[in-house]
Amino acid sequence: MLKRIYALISLILLTSVILSGIIAFKVIEEFNGNSNETKLKSAANLISVELQEHKSYEEITKLISTTFNSDNATLRFTIIETSGKVIYDNEVNASTMENHLYRAEVKAAIQTKSFAHAIRNSTTQNIKIYYYALYSKSNDLVIRTAMPMVDYLKSLNEIWIQFVIIVTFAFIALVIIGAFITNVVAKPLIDLKKAAIAMSDGDYSRRVARRFGDKTEISEVSNAFNKMAQQLQSVVYELAEKNSRLDTILNTMENPILAVDSSLSVTFMNKFTREEFVGDSFPESGIFPLISIVRNSEIERLVQRAAASQKAANAQISLVTRKGSKTFRVMAVPMSKENGQILDSNQNELFSNNNQNQTMLSGNVRDMEHSEFVRDLGLIVTFQDITQIIKLQQMRSDFVANVTHELKTPLTSIRGFVDTLRQGAIKNPDVSERFLEIIDVEAERLHKLISDILSLSEIEDLKEESEVSIFDLNSLMDEVIVLLDDEAVIKHVSLITAGDEEFKEPFLVKANRYRIKQILINLIENAIKYNIDHGKVYITASRNENGEVVLRVRDTGNGIPKEHLNRIFERFYRVDKGRSKELGGTGLGLSIVKHIAMLYGGNASASSTLGQGSEFTVNLKI
Ligand code: ADP
Repeated sequence: MLKRIYALISLILLTSVILSGIIAFKVIEEFNGNSNETKLKSAANLISVELQEHKSYEEITKLISTTFNSDNATLRFTIIETSGKVIYDNEVNASTMENHLYRAEVKAAIQTKSFAHAIRNSTTQNIKIYYYALYSKSNDLVIRTAMPMVDYLKSLNEIWIQFVIIVTFAFIALVIIGAFITNVVAKPLIDLKKAAIAMSDGDYSRRVARRFGDKTEISEVSNAFNKMAQQLQSVVYELAEKNSRLDTILNTMENPILAVDSSLSVTFMNKFTREEFVGDSFPESGIFPLISIVRNSEIERLVQRAAASQKAANAQISLVTRKGSKTFRVMAVPMSKENGQILDSNQNELFSNNNQNQTMLSGNVRDMEHSEFVRDLGLIVTFQDITQIIKLQQMRSDFVANVTHELKTPLTSIRGFVDTLRQGAIKNPDVSERFLEIIDVEAERLHKLISDILSLSEIEDLKEESEVSIFDLNSLMDEVIVLLDDEAVIKHVSLITAGDEEFKEPFLVKANRYRIKQILINLIENAIKYNIDHGKVYITASRNENGEVVLRVRDTGNGIPKEHLNRIFERFYRVDKGRSKELGGTGLGLSIVKHIAMLYGGNASASSTLGQGSEFTVNLKI
């Protein structure tokens, strides 16, 4: 561009200089010819008049010399007869001169009986001479005047010099104009071009330099460009900030989230999706088929359904993830075609982009190319892990079923014996006594079951323990041992606590005494129940290095098979159902122990060796 402007201006300037040179040459040549001819014609006429007046040649010569000679040139005149014979010449002796009839101007003047002129080189000097021949009718002579064209040549030389000077100046002007164009016109344009290219490459901080006092159109364009760049930069920055905020939110969400296009290709996945479904070895970026990530065709069908209806669709889907089998509530939500807003009103407002800047940008983009912006934005697929919720629901319904069953069993038994008594068995004292005893046992079991259920639900509902007091754990242990002594005696089981001496150091703890008593009763009762005849139960309490109270109840029973160890703390779980019931168990004792431990920020665990016994450990932060 710059080169073209430069070349064009050079061409115009040089052409005009050359043209004006040529015109000047022509004008000077013309002028010179005319002035020579006028001079020579005047001289010839004067000579003719003087001859008529019979003036002598000397007088004529003197007159001509004073009238027409200049510093540079002298006017020569020759008087020639019509035969061509020279009769006088003011410079050369006429007798020595040859016949002039065939001099072009002389010949023409005689022939036309008027005048003629010619320009030719002098025979003696190598200079151009202008000849003028006038036929003087009154004298019947040809008067020829001649003058060297020195003035003309001198002018020509001067013009040459001037021409060279002009051309030189033209070149200097050209250089100056070139520099001017470069600095004033082209430089801002080049700056503008560079800034535009930088901006198209993503450098939005680029600005065009401002020139002080510059009020040209280019400067206005530069200002407009800078303003536009400023606006674009702030919009881009805000969008980038918003994007990174959104990225942070999406990546810190502990649920997989995907974006898919209408061809079911994943265009975005958050960190959790990667962790849950594909792992770190999966390529960082790229577009992948949805099926290659979730490996479940049910999800594909769900997304297709949402895309086809342009309405949110959801389903409960079980998937095998990298972290095991899980159940998700999968929701596919189509995004709107304008403003990037999710169609359904029940969706997360995170995905709504209707703030001012977005509107501004989308407005601009829409103005520029509406069709480009109105396009399918695809769908968002969210996964809500409901494995625990389902597990809890299952546990709840299992619990209800278990409670119903557990309550029904003794009630059915009681009703059966009552019926039998009514039908006449009451009349037999031995039978009725036995039946009443059974009814009493069943009623007792029912009572125990109900109180265990109530205990459990009370503990579960508690956020933190109430009625906390400081008490001596050793004396509580002794109290429980006394309480369970009868049962132990029946089974010939010895209850042994560490340091069996009469006086023990008090072991002070701060807790709800009743709850700790519940733990001890349940564990020691089990250790007696499931022990062998003449077995032993060891009960200890200590503080570990973390300051926690550790209760241990070890027995010498038959032990618990390994596969049951993890489950015995579940509600109503029994290793041997028949035996538990026979021994009056409710299947809730260990569950109560575990929940009390949890209430005190601790835990309960069991270890066992078949044929040797079991050990139950409870850690409590008391
Ligand atoms: P239960 O009322 O049936 O004793 P628990 O919740 O107290 O209910 O115990 C759950 C099950 O754990 C029992 O049915 C029994 O099979 C097993 N169990 C508990 N304690 C012991 C133990 N000390 N030795 C062997 N098995 C035990």
